[in-house]
Amino acid sequence: MSKVPEMFGSMVFNDAVMQERLPQATYKALKKTVENGEALDISIANVVANAMKDWAVEKGCTHFTHWFQPMTGVTAEKHDSFIVPSGDGQVIMEFSGKELIKGEPDASSFPSGGIRATFEARGYTTWDPTSPAFIKDGSLYIPTAFCSYTGEVLDKKTPLLRSMERLSEQAVKVLHLLGKTDVKRVITTVGAEQEYFLIDKSLYEQRVDLKLTGRTLFGAMAPKGQELDDHYFGVIKTRVSEYMRDLDEELWKLGVLAKTKHNEVAPSQHELAPIFSTSNIATDHNELMMEVMKKIAEKHDLVCLLHEKPFAGVNGSGKHDNWSITTDTGENLLSPGSHPEDNLQFQLFLAAIVKAVHEYQDLLRITVASAGNDHRLGANEAPPAIISMYLGDDLGALVQSIIDGVSYKSEGKTKMYTGVDVLADFKKDTSDRNRTSPFAFTGNKFEFRALGSALNIACPNYMLNTMVAEELCQFYEELKDVSETDRMDAVKALIKKTFTDHQNIIFNGDNYSEEWMKEAERRGLYNFHSLPEAYSHFMDQKNVELFVKHNIMSEQEFRARYEINLSEYNNQMNIEACTMIEMAKKNITPAVTAFVKELTDAALAKKALSASIPTSVEENLITGLSNQLVAFCEKTAELEEAVEQASRLEDNLERAYYSRVHIFEKMQELRKIGDSMEKETAAKYWPYPSYTDLLFGV
Ligand code: ADP
Ligand code: MG
Repeated sequence: MSKVPEMFGSMVFNDAVMQERLPQATYKALKKTVENGEALDISIANVVANAMKDWAVEKGCTHFTHWFQPMTGVTAEKHDSFIVPSGDGQVIMEFSGKELIKGEPDASSFPSGGIRATFEARGYTTWDPTSPAFIKDGSLYIPTAFCSYTGEVLDKKTPLLRSMERLSEQAVKVLHLLGKTDVKRVITTVGAEQEYFLIDKSLYEQRVDLKLTGRTLFGAMAPKGQELDDHYFGVIKTRVSEYMRDLDEELWKLGVLAKTKHNEVAPSQHELAPIFSTSNIATDHNELMMEVMKKIAEKHDLVCLLHEKPFAGVNGSGKHDNWSITTDTGENLLSPGSHPEDNLQFQLFLAAIVKAVHEYQDLLRITVASAGNDHRLGANEAPPAIISMYLGDDLGALVQSIIDGVSYKSEGKTKMYTGVDVLADFKKDTSDRNRTSPFAFTGNKFEFRALGSALNIACPNYMLNTMVAEELCQFYEELKDVSETDRMDAVKALIKKTFTDHQNIIFNGDNYSEEWMKEAERRGLYNFHSLPEAYSHFMDQKNVELFVKHNIMSEQEFRARYEINLSEYNNQMNIEACTMIEMAKKNITPAVTAFVKELTDAALAKKALSASIPTSVEENLITGLSNQLVAFCEKTAELEEAVEQASRLEDNLERAYYSRVHIFEKMQELRKIGDSMEKETAAKYWPYPSYTDLLFGV
């Protein structure tokens, strides 16, 4: 293994490579585009494209691809080779600025939510120079945004980039009012912690449910689960640590700042966290990370599961979106400093976020809703489905003192005395961690914890950026005409008013407790248990207005997302139900029948031998399993009926509600009987690897 600093970014067309390979003037112009968001000239693109191609070809590339994030939930790519005929029957390798800037994939097969008829199939991808190009599998990958011929947004990156710009514009205006006139841009930063499961590939191959839906649709709980807490942060097994090492190396080569790795709560569950970067790069890198996780797993005869709930009865997987805002002068706007009580700038930005989360709690809940995440949110493992904020004791007390109009002295960072001479004393953080909060302040950033493991983080981030931009915009409007002498008083009054009006979103207690459910209801906070419930608020006037006002999306584009996500949910429910029906009819019912036959044969054989040999064990099993089999087949038929009914519903939301109530519930009921039969049936008859095999097989 080569040294990490040399390996890191070796497959990335990064700043160092650009400095080395681009003429000074080109490099500077490109830098301006990346850092100040200035438009890029085609003549510059030509030079950059050529340098990129030379670099990529030297590294063995033959192709390039525009890499984009359509509304499918995975990334998309279409590869073109660099070859151009040279006229003498030979080829040369070329790559033009035009090819770098613009691609034209056929857009007709990507979800558009009805924006675009299929005959208007043209779509464009446009180079995003703010996220570096990289090499993977012999191709040069160019991160791009994706839109239709008529300019409608068809991807996740475009709204994210727009939201970053809008937040920057609004934050800069507010900072200028506060006297920070040297700030020209504000950047949102994100660090996404990623959870995943690793299971043995040969076992995975035997489970059609995992292959088609990403989760186990049947499976009796293993005798052991996560109750001993012996996996969390436990010693990493050799096979897993070899996987993790390969994974780190591959990610480092791609410039992903893979930093922390450890075992998670559930057996065979793990986590990887990178060092944070801009929201845009963090999003691209998280997509890459998920892809590389799966690819490297194959090499180790493992399968990486990114589903939010692969196994019932143990924790599912989430993703933590650590989010902050930094100025181009290097100041983290969410850093409270040692005396937050005197830091009006921090208080004002905090107030904007509190107000945003309160007013748009429905959007935050919507943005993390998915068929998979419905199994986690509110189920005592992930944060609850109720969105609230945790500020910690110190900041919580500060906010309270502002509301009450009393003075407050922050304790700041106090010293932690270890009480052992050889152990160094250190400074404690101002707040303890609260693991149950969906949106927690963690020192100098917020950690949005309700994301499912498979989610593209672009969506929660553009929601978050846009809602905070809106609040800052309102703050600016309120403050801009106040004279300079009165301004700080006006700022204080605004902070006090905002905290007072929106304190209901702040909750520092145990988010899993029964009391909180009641208290949240009393406070008028939303509690959407499932995707359809959340989505019934998607198109609320205030949400549409938010996105239209800030030019993130038109109403039509916003609605398209609503339809696309609902129809994805409906498709997923349908696939899961159909897979379950197939498993039930083709494998489970025949397996149990065969076992019952063996028992019957055994009992008959015993009886033939002598009437005095007891056959009660066989008979009890035969009766028990036969009864369950009847119920099992009835439930299967009911599920088939529900699937049929659902498919007749044309309205996406109506169908989603129907699926949630009827398909989802029938599936749970069918599973219950199936799992109970698994417990009674001899292992050699059961057609699928057990939970013990799956969870403890690596
Ligand atoms: P924990 O597991 O305790 O939640 P980790 O240390 O594993 O925390 O992850 C914290 C994440 O937050 C890391 O990805 C880190 O890079 C990120 N982070 C730290 N500072 C910032 C910041 N200013 N903006 C965004 N993310 C940040
Ligand atoms: Mg975390």
